[in-house]
Amino acid sequence: MASIEMRNIVKQYGDGFPAVNDVSLDIADGEFMILVGPSGCGKSTLLRMIVGLEDITSGDMIIGGKRVNDLAPRDRNLSMVFQNYALYPHMTVYENIAFPLRLAKMPDDEVRRRVTEASDVLELKDHLERKPANLSGGQRQRVAMGRAIVRQAEAFLFDEPLSNLDAKLRGQMRTEISRLQRRLGITTVYVTHDQTEAMTLGDRVCVLRKGKIQQVASPRELYEQP
Ligand code: ADP
Ligand code: ADP
Repeated sequence: MASIEMRNIVKQYGDGFPAVNDVSLDIADGEFMILVGPSGCGKSTLLRMIVGLEDITSGDMIIGGKRVNDLAPRDRNLSMVFQNYALYPHMTVYENIAFPLRLAKMPDDEVRRRVTEASDVLELKDHLERKPANLSGGQRQRVAMGRAIVRQAEAFLFDEPLSNLDAKLRGQMRTEISRLQRRLGITTVYVTHDQTEAMTLGDRVCVLRKGKIQQVASPRELYEQP
């Protein structure tokens, strides 16, 4: 687990208005931080700079006390959970969860230990031999999270993971993500434009507007504002 510190982060695409404009934000070890704001305010860009999928124009990104500006995504040891799950359709649930460990050439018995542990936490034990096509949306989401857990990454990053789900499943998954995050106590950054998610999921909410931080507050503080 690790803290994430952003110091005067700027992202400029081409010569337009900066997509992210001088953002400084400290996310504590184990904290669940929501990034919220209207479409185009820079949420995804900021998240992608944390993961390393996007170069930083200026400023410093510090993860676990270490400056990571020049580190490739695979060397940052973070786990990104995407909206479309990015599961492999031809692989079983077990192999989908194990995939990052296979890539890292981890020995079979350690792979088995970690996948078993993750599928326990995620209540996927009875589905390990199934293929993604035979799972519900919620189960697929859990497999994606399982893959994130087994790597024992420093932090979880979510980019609107629930926006393709129907309202009922979204509600269930909100509860599940929040339960799981508290159980694992892993630093989490979660991008959404959904007010309900912003107000129910995180420890703190960072409101972005036109590439700048408008406010950082707990959901309670935001709720009690006039
Ligand atoms: P969202 O609003 O959900 O963040 P977008 O539709 O803005 O998604 O962006 C989808 C993809 O297109 C992203 O990978 C983003 O980086 C890219 N993108 C967004 N705006 C532009 C743009 N003006 N020029 C090139 N790529 C863009
Ligand atoms: P959000 O996630 O809040 O919807 P984004 O981070 O996707 O916002 O986009 C922030 C701004 O940067 C938008 O104006 C978008 O058009 C622009 N943008 C995003 N990705 C690219 C890109 N690859 N090339 C050029 N402009 C981009």
